[in-house]
Amino acid sequence: MTTPEIKGFCPGALRPMQSGDGIVVRIRPFNGRLRRAQADGIATLAAAHGNGMIDLSSRGNIQIRGVTEESYAGLIEGLRRMSLLDATPEIESRRNILVTPFWQTGDETEALAAALTDEMVAEGAPQVPHKFGFAVDTGKLPVLQTASADIRLERDAGGGLILVPDGSTSGKPVTSETVIAQALDLAKWFLKNRDSYSRMNQVIADGATLPPGYFVPRQAQTYVPAPGYTPLGAIVGLAFGQLPVETLAGLAKQGGLRMTPWRMILVESARNLPDVDGVITDPADPLLRVVACTGAPACSQGLAETRSVASEIAPHLGVDQMLHVSGCAKGCAHPKPAPLTVTATAHGYDLIRNGRASDPADQTGLTLQDIIKAL
Ligand code: SF4
Repeated sequence: MTTPEIKGFCPGALRPMQSGDGIVVRIRPFNGRLRRAQADGIATLAAAHGNGMIDLSSRGNIQIRGVTEESYAGLIEGLRRMSLLDATPEIESRRNILVTPFWQTGDETEALAAALTDEMVAEGAPQVPHKFGFAVDTGKLPVLQTASADIRLERDAGGGLILVPDGSTSGKPVTSETVIAQALDLAKWFLKNRDSYSRMNQVIADGATLPPGYFVPRQAQTYVPAPGYTPLGAIVGLAFGQLPVETLAGLAKQGGLRMTPWRMILVESARNLPDVDGVITDPADPLLRVVACTGAPACSQGLAETRSVASEIAPHLGVDQMLHVSGCAKGCAHPKPAPLTVTATAHGYDLIRNGRASDPADQTGLTLQDIIKAL
């Protein structure tokens, strides 16, 4: 029997994490894509071995929740049969590669993502920290700049490939032949210069001098993710990035699925917005402007429920208001400042304007009704 190696951080499938509602098993789909049979298979496995709920992470990974020590081995065996696992926990941790969901079969993005994957799973790959990751964002315009990554592959205004250390406003010109080797060199540079830091933007913010060549201005992201049609298929939203297994199975009937870091899924080739329970198809739905972590009781550190509270507040938000509801001051779901943050405490909710979940509150000890009045 496969025994789970339970850690308290950054779960994978082979290195899962214990949470308040059981073991969390995180799957990293290759190139962010699930074939229909894989998506349907994950739904079946999550129903049989988990609690029937699936999360889409902020890096486009899939988390099966509520797994038990007894059910873990069967789940892993099923995932392995569908070619969704890496060889070892170490390789799984290093293969932290986010890919623009708009890649097309046979295009340069697909080839670069495959080449980078091959290098990062190989023996001798840079031993980067577990949260360190790459973004292959090589469509004409960048779409992943708000997603977490440390080394980014993008295009400059002229369409040339550039390599970007996260936190830098400029990149280094590279070619499709040189970019992967240069990305690995940049990862090694990070390892040499990181001191106690775990992320590239911390090293850049601390004033480290990059190697020569990082002088090409980046394009600023203008793309705003939203449910709707794209040339590749239809994008649907998921409240809080969560979906029951029935919703995943329903989407799998419509086409292959591309995971995104936006709490949205792109359904390949869908000509109509899928009529599946549990998805958001209206780009004006206020739930798209609400971020909420797992909260209590599913997260053992949560001091109160988060998602039911967020659902109650959502209809009262103004059209330009964005809300983050956090089950504790850790702020996992949105580590950055938000216009409105509600943080659960042992004595009601704190309301923080333009800050993080851990920042000093503008108002404390609030009830749900107090928060709605204060908006
Ligand atoms: S912010 Fe707190 S309650 Fe929410 S998921 Fe993170 S640790 Fe749990």
